[in-house]
Amino acid sequence: MGIDRRKFIKASGLAALGMVVTSPKKLLASDEVPVVDSTEVQQTPVSDGKPLVASRWAMVIDLKKCIHEEGCTDCVNACHIAHNVPQFDNPKDEIKWIWKEKFHNAFHDEGHEHLEEHVLHANIPVLCNHCDNPPCVRVCPTGATWKRDNDGIVMMDWHRCCGCRYCVAACPYGSRSFNWRDPRPFVDKIDPEFPTRTRGVVEKCTFCDERLAKGKLPNCVEACKAKAILFGDLEDPESEIRKVLKDNFTIRRKPGLGTQPEIYYIV
Ligand code: SF4
Repeated sequence: MGIDRRKFIKASGLAALGMVVTSPKKLLASDEVPVVDSTEVQQTPVSDGKPLVASRWAMVIDLKKCIHEEGCTDCVNACHIAHNVPQFDNPKDEIKWIWKEKFHNAFHDEGHEHLEEHVLHANIPVLCNHCDNPPCVRVCPTGATWKRDNDGIVMMDWHRCCGCRYCVAACPYGSRSFNWRDPRPFVDKIDPEFPTRTRGVVEKCTFCDERLAKGKLPNCVEACKAKAILFGDLEDPESEIRKVLKDNFTIRRKPGLGTQPEIYYIV
């Protein structure tokens, strides 16, 4: 994008007008494969400090295991602490990278009255879907958000963000948060290893790209005591994630929108 933050603000006059935009084991031949439960699957091994690489990172969340740990927020806490996510009292200021959502809110089109009550009303983890066809990227005027060519992660550069909030409006999953206030005073204990953000920029999950670069799995994956979150390479037919997707029924959020979310849920 040949336009930087300053030029964009000047050209559009948005700031002056105060315009608000609302909103990895081999895979047996298919006839040899027994039904594999995700509980039997090993997570992508953590390398000894070498970057974890994939052609297309994706995540599978096993709701059967997650729901069993009702009330658990370990994934949320691990992510938000590691990424200096502020805690505001007022919900309108809320910043979230991963959060718990009622099943029927996350999957409007998937629920039906015969689903078990504990599933329908369960709180399930949701986050940026790192869509293969991300509308947020298309609308960003400064290139502050983009999909990485090498592994499909939808990234965010807070320094290039001009605060127009087009991406917030474009994301159909509420996965982006805008800093209406200076977030730093609202971070319990700032981790100097991770950058803090400023008032006026958008933020979201980046699949812990900073950890992948050090050979570590995302915080939420590591923190989940139920081992409900599997992270792996969707493009590798021999990866564990492909095995799990092959042998379990999974759903994605709002698949009809054509965004191609890369977070899959076992229900
Ligand atoms: Fe963009 Fe929203 Fe898709 Fe994440 S979930 S890639 S923020 S459209």
